[in-house]
Amino acid sequence: MLTVQFTCSDCAQTIEVNEEMRETILATGCPVCTTDAGEEDFSGDAGEDELDDADDG
Ligand SMILES: [Zn+2]
Repeated sequence: MLTVQFTCSDCAQTIEVNEEMRETILATGCPVCTTDAGEEDFSGDAGEDELDDADDG
């Protein structure tokens, strides 16, 4: 299940949401304080392959 993390820019509440919930928040705003939310308030870390080129030796 793909989930993203929503962080409200107003009340700073962090909530883990799925795709459906994400679209709901984009349409209706923060579920806590109803402040308008945008794409930038979501941070998705699923499906992304993080590059780590740290050479420790
Ligand atoms: Zn909020």
